[in-house]
Amino acid sequence: MSAPGAVRVLVALGSNLGDRRANLEAALARLSAAPAFRLVSVSPWIESAAEGGPAGQPDYLNGCLEGETTLGPHELLALLQDIEAGLGRRRELEPRHGARTLDLDLLFYGEETIEAERLTVPHPRLEERLFVLEPLCALQPERLLPRSRKTARERLQELRSRSGQR
Ligand code: AMP
Repeated sequence: MSAPGAVRVLVALGSNLGDRRANLEAALARLSAAPAFRLVSVSPWIESAAEGGPAGQPDYLNGCLEGETTLGPHELLALLQDIEAGLGRRRELEPRHGARTLDLDLLFYGEETIEAERLTVPHPRLEERLFVLEPLCALQPERLLPRSRKTARERLQELRSRSGQR
């Protein structure tokens, strides 16, 4: 059952350091344990090569979750960052796009558009990333994306054909 005033959110998860599956599952457990958050559904995990950042990084395991929360968007971002830190991520020690035990990105917060210093929602790079679109499509293929004005499914097909994938 939904709490009054709860907002539907989508969060992308990724890990390419340590026990990736255990990291992602621990993130789900911690989010589920937060009193203001209810986990609704989780995509399958998908594996993808690291994009950008230092060469020779291990592959990522990525996924997407749908939840419901009574937290505001900035409070939710703070919770996601606490979970990242709790699972051993040391943001200040990482090179840009370097390997990480856990990365949590807020993709959508209800239908809100947010352009703040530390938070942009919908996430600005989600429409360019196969590793986000693929798990997102497992949950919400008909979700309309604001930049391309395509559905997640259409955009995934477009990026796949551009990159020579089926
Ligand atoms: P990353 O290295 O990908 O974890 O980048 C996290 C940084 O992006 C943090 O400083 C956040 O404040 C900022 N950020 C901006 N928009 C978002 C978003 N929608 N989800 C997660 N982090 C965001």
